[in-house]
Amino acid sequence: MIKIENLLKAILVMLTLCTSFVVHSATKLDGVRIWAAPESTRVVFDLTHAPKYTHFNLTSPYRLVVDLKGTTTSLNLSKLANNSKLVKRVRISKPPSKGTLRLVIDLVKPVKANLFSLPPTAPYGNRLVVDLDDSGSSVAVSQPSKPTQKLRDVVVAIDAGHGGDDPGSIGPSGIYEKKVVLEIAKKVAAKINATPGMRAVMTRTSDYFVNLNKRSEIARNSKADLLVSIHADAFTSPQPRGASVWVLSMRRANSEIGRWLEHKEKHSELLGGAGEIIQNTDNEQYLAMTLLDMSMDRSMAISHSIADDVLANLGKVTKLHKYKPESASFAVLKSPDIPSILVETGFISNHKEERLLSQRQHQNNIANAIHKGVVKYFESNPLVNSLMASKGSRKHNVRKGESLSVIAHRYQVSVTSIKKANNLKSNNIRIGQKLVIPRA
Ligand SMILES: [Zn+2]
Repeated sequence: MIKIENLLKAILVMLTLCTSFVVHSATKLDGVRIWAAPESTRVVFDLTHAPKYTHFNLTSPYRLVVDLKGTTTSLNLSKLANNSKLVKRVRISKPPSKGTLRLVIDLVKPVKANLFSLPPTAPYGNRLVVDLDDSGSSVAVSQPSKPTQKLRDVVVAIDAGHGGDDPGSIGPSGIYEKKVVLEIAKKVAAKINATPGMRAVMTRTSDYFVNLNKRSEIARNSKADLLVSIHADAFTSPQPRGASVWVLSMRRANSEIGRWLEHKEKHSELLGGAGEIIQNTDNEQYLAMTLLDMSMDRSMAISHSIADDVLANLGKVTKLHKYKPESASFAVLKSPDIPSILVETGFISNHKEERLLSQRQHQNNIANAIHKGVVKYFESNPLVNSLMASKGSRKHNVRKGESLSVIAHRYQVSVTSIKKANNLKSNNIRIGQKLVIPRA
């Protein structure tokens, strides 16, 4: 009797354990977000546990099918916000087997899909990320190249860190790094575009995620002479504050890449990025290629000079955290051919700086400092064939009643040389136009 009773008890305990196991291990899909970038779209599935998933493509019509094992949902996907040019809709389909949740992403055209999972990082939990890349028509970023004899603009790629699914650091009152840095980045870009002989290219222009390779690819395709990545710092304690400027250190890259992958929470090139890099089997090759590139030396020297100039100007408008450029191996700085700096505009984890960083006036001061530092460098180190090289530092603002010949006479240069320096096709100029005046 006693034995049977014990056996029954044991079975009962096992059953309870099994049931509770099942209850706890069932994954719930509790959110779907679609982040549209100009040429790509990221679909994020928010899950209560790390996903077990498989996927495959189907044609006519084009779709991507994602099967999530042991997953349920009570979501209604029909009202999903979607401004993607690649995704028609996301829907739930008939499951291939019991306990599997089948999701179908209806596509507008065939696209490259990259799937990976991300661990919980505030404010998000476990995620399955589906990156859809419209690589077939990836010409949007590159500008038609100008004939070589013409003087060219100095091109500065402005990289607002994070975006979309990746908020970056979050301030004590809930302000997101991705938002603040985009505001500052836009201001820097506008100032650069208003500078004769300079042109800005932004790696992202609104709230969407751009992966690291894509960020440097945009810079490279635009033939950028410099990449400025803009971030806001964070620390576990609220005290640290001040801006700093970072340049790439390849000597430290090897040992730091490991540490960097471990400290995913700090910068996420780090969040969205690290997940991707871990997934990317070509990464070692990419790194090796980077390490071998000899142009790195030159890029690093330039990066250091620009970092000095930017830091000097930042010191006039904000507290500095570090008085010398710091070296690190942030992946966004890892473009061997493009001089790159990373500006930490301040600590968003510090109450006072969080408030400052979200104020338009302070954002403008920071943007001004970055702009001034960059301009100073290219004025004192003019690039061959660039408009800035030809002009020294002379600029002329066209005033009422002035014609090209009047201006040419005033500066003792020819009308033709002014037209050439400004790529003017006719003699028409307008009031307020900024002209580059070449050295005679
Ligand atoms: Zn950041």
